[in-house]
Amino acid sequence: MKRLFGMLFAVMVACLCAACGAPPEPYTKTAVIMDTVVTIEAEDGEREQAVDEGMAYLQKIDALASQNAGSDLELLRLSAGNGQWVAISPEVFEMLEMSQEWAKKTDGAFDVTVGPVVWLWGIGTEYAKVPSEAELAEARSHVGWQKLELDKSATSARLTEAGMRIHLGAIAKGYAIDGLCAIFKKHGVKNGLVSLGGSSMYAFGKSPKRKPWRIGIRHPRSDDAKEYLAVAPLTDAALSSSGDYERYFEQDGVRYHHIFDPVTGRPADTGVLGVTVIATGGHAGTLTDILTTTLFVMGEEKGKAFLKTCGADASALFIMQEGDTFHFCAATSGDAPAMQDVLTDVAESAQWEAE
Ligand code: ADP
Ligand code: MG
Repeated sequence: MKRLFGMLFAVMVACLCAACGAPPEPYTKTAVIMDTVVTIEAEDGEREQAVDEGMAYLQKIDALASQNAGSDLELLRLSAGNGQWVAISPEVFEMLEMSQEWAKKTDGAFDVTVGPVVWLWGIGTEYAKVPSEAELAEARSHVGWQKLELDKSATSARLTEAGMRIHLGAIAKGYAIDGLCAIFKKHGVKNGLVSLGGSSMYAFGKSPKRKPWRIGIRHPRSDDAKEYLAVAPLTDAALSSSGDYERYFEQDGVRYHHIFDPVTGRPADTGVLGVTVIATGGHAGTLTDILTTTLFVMGEEKGKAFLKTCGADASALFIMQEGDTFHFCAATSGDAPAMQDVLTDVAESAQWEAE
């Protein structure tokens, strides 16, 4: 009898430990890839394999989407206008396909052929400068998604005019997030977090505290990247942010940033400081990345109207400023929840705009 009680006690203790015991340490790695600090964290499943494979995958996408000698994009640029088709890696081809789909939908507000303009301004490099009108007109004349042709059956592409070039900066991180989702799934990781520079993120399941992950919406005018205007508690969702605070320089009191209106060839100037988009489901990483850039270029009014009809399920937040106050304007499409119902911990300096 005494022995039976002893066994029962041991079983009870084991059950209690399983129910309330400390979760295993997360497996985390951080590195500089895609020109930013990336972190991959996995809580369960084959954690080590998932994180290590994820890091290798990011290196691969970084190289594929680069403009380095021998890269797809560089070969495309060198053969622009000569009529030749260039064989493209499946990953870059997929990014180009999605870019073209959204270029069409957004009437060119999202356009990866904006490359000549990105190059001319050089924002984020030591060569950054305000170009002359003549330089701008020249660069602008080589922008246009209709002049990028894709051949799906041969996985190849061509640019129809000399002087054209592609820049995948607005989509590559989001695309990589979707790839990381597939890697996590393959290794049975249900809980974890990936952050590509804080501007493209994906929250898997729950945090080690067994609660939704708390993702901060960055204060667009604070030097401290960890100062937030609000928090998005997320589970199995992608979040992307685009803002005039990510890469910019100032000259004569004007801020020149890295998100361009392809029509003017200048940094989009609609009074929006930042846009954040949240989405769930397949391709959520790519979708949110494309949408933040798009909505930033369109501005609040046009962006809100576009979102309603774009066919995606996404929650968007536009951040504007008036004096010391930040204005939050929400827009939603499809079945996605309203941003007002998502965000918590809204800073005192921020105010929701009336609908
Ligand atoms: P970040 O890379 O800081 O997260 P975005 O996702 O908004 O920010 O992407 C900005 C990058 O996208 C720029 O560096 C540029 O390469 C590219 N880009 C700028 N304007 C456009 C546009 N209208 N359409 C497509 N790509 C753009
Ligand atoms: Mg983007």
